[in-house]
Amino acid sequence: MSEHKIAMVGTPCEIMAASKLQHYTDSPIDVKLGLFCMENFSYKYFGNLLKEYDLTMNDIEKFRIEKGFVFLFLKNKETVKIPLSEARRILRKNCNICVELTSETSDISIGSIGSDDGWSTLIIRTEKGEEIVNGAIEQKFIESKELTGPQFELLKRIAESKISKNLEMIEKREFFARPVLYQREKSDDAINKEISESNFQDLKSNVIDVGACVLCGACEYACPDNLITIDDTKPRMKGECPQDCHACCAVCPRTFIPEDLRNDNSKALGEYIKVLSVKSIRHTQGQDGSIVTTLLDYLLTNKIITEALIVDKEDLLQYLLHTIISLHHHYLVLHTLHLTR
Ligand code: SF4
Ligand code: SF4
Ligand code: SF4
Repeated sequence: MSEHKIAMVGTPCEIMAASKLQHYTDSPIDVKLGLFCMENFSYKYFGNLLKEYDLTMNDIEKFRIEKGFVFLFLKNKETVKIPLSEARRILRKNCNICVELTSETSDISIGSIGSDDGWSTLIIRTEKGEEIVNGAIEQKFIESKELTGPQFELLKRIAESKISKNLEMIEKREFFARPVLYQREKSDDAINKEISESNFQDLKSNVIDVGACVLCGACEYACPDNLITIDDTKPRMKGECPQDCHACCAVCPRTFIPEDLRNDNSKALGEYIKVLSVKSIRHTQGQDGSIVTTLLDYLLTNKIITEALIVDKEDLLQYLLHTIISLHHHYLVLHTLHLTR
């Protein structure tokens, strides 16, 4: 077992990659904080869209998608609204076959849908997640209240609409192209057999070349021979794979999913213990961000984890996944694990 205990923060597809890493390898990821995610934009093309508004990424402090618009909060304190219908043309292609809104394989899922302004919705899914949230409430890192019936119904309805819209896309895509593997139901034995006969070329033809890759970086991380690199468009492999290696195919969140991790599309929010609305008492920057920061602060302060893994922007063209350690709320980057976008 690794001496590192890492909390990972990620979107549903990234959390699925983390869950598969836990399933197939001796992963140091101990706590998974999943974010709600409806869809995602191509970072590169988002930069191009900004040019139409005479803006660059450097002008933006933060952005939020709300009520049919992408709100850009600029560093000069101005706000720019881009209609979502316009921004949709730069959506990442893999997102339209994604049927998960709320990171169903996480310990705790976090998002704004359903909660009042300034509050975030938490879906507690595991005993570990429940212990963390109870501890954070007891030690006054966060305060909590019940989500009302209508708020819960709104969250469920949005999750259901993502599932039904994208199941339709999957059906259309499968009519013309290859099966969307992560939605195929197979027994674990059949999956293991399939994986034992696969290597990077199968990952390339079943996931990467058909636009299903989510650029999570799990294949690159798991490759024992460091043959995979990921640029801002896709994973590439250089070299020759040993005959007995199938690691990249096993951990990819868009290949077959083992039975205990597979989403049940009839349960829009997945399995969970409790849903709460919470507010940070310690941090105030951003809505979901402040809850993520506060939970990481709680985990690091109480030495429940040794490091946290988040996605951070490094420059205009790429995001890097860093391990970080907290020094009284200042994050120190220890080392880069891999490119994710
Ligand atoms: S595939 Fe796209 S929509 Fe789905 S979780 Fe990942 S980023 Fe979000
Ligand atoms: S060595 Fe293994 S993990 Fe690396 S690319 Fe080849 S099959 Fe994939
Ligand atoms: S091919 Fe690699 S980067 Fe793409 S989704 Fe699969 S594991 Fe992630």
